[in-house]
Amino acid sequence: MYDYMFRYILLGNSYVGKTAFTQKLSKGLYNHVYEPTIGVDYATKSLLLDNGKQIKCQIWDTAGQERYSMLLRNYYKDIAGAIIMYDITKRKSFNNLHFWIKELRNNGPKNVSVILIGNKKDLSGKRVVSKQEAELFAKRHKFFYTEISVKKEDISEPLYTITKDIYIDIDNRKKGIVVNKQNQNIKITKTNKQKETCCFIC
Ligand code: GDP
Ligand code: MG
Repeated sequence: MYDYMFRYILLGNSYVGKTAFTQKLSKGLYNHVYEPTIGVDYATKSLLLDNGKQIKCQIWDTAGQERYSMLLRNYYKDIAGAIIMYDITKRKSFNNLHFWIKELRNNGPKNVSVILIGNKKDLSGKRVVSKQEAELFAKRHKFFYTEISVKKEDISEPLYTITKDIYIDIDNRKKGIVVNKQNQNIKITKTNKQKETCCFIC
């Protein structure tokens, strides 16, 4: 039973690891090969915030090819947040971020939280985009920023960061949020105090 459902769109070039990310979040599994995403697909992940609120995150995993961009435009309309991913070993995937940002600005709601993720941190020997460059880029756009390895690490933290950001501003958000009315009268009692950054994955 969730309190709110937040909708996210996951953007970025093909092969950066978007499907690996959503599959690991929702199923806890990592594979070496994923079928190319055709159009869009979605995955869900539940997060428990430290105030006891249960948030169901619905993540639209998109195909990176620009030829699908017309189809994707329908999916930008009702989102609370966007996750934009590039591969730290592929300069083209970083250079193309401007395309995804433009698509988001042109087709998405005004008030959207965005996190930029540099994936494949485990391949840091082949890195071509420095952390400083990406951090600066994210700062200029007022995005959160992190680097991860879907292959090697727990990857729930970036989703938690953006979910918390949306939740604290929930009264000003009009898009991409569904309130579960059935759950609104149920009082959740916490048994132990959690740290600010603590995240429980259900
Ligand atoms: P998508 O096209 O963005 O959905 O990319 P996929 O999820 O299909 O991943 C493309 C390839 O990158 C697959 O072979 C994945 O196994 C691989 N991959 C994804 N994440 C990582 C990672 O963190 N490290 C490494 N080394 N490979 C990854
Ligand atoms: Mg994919």
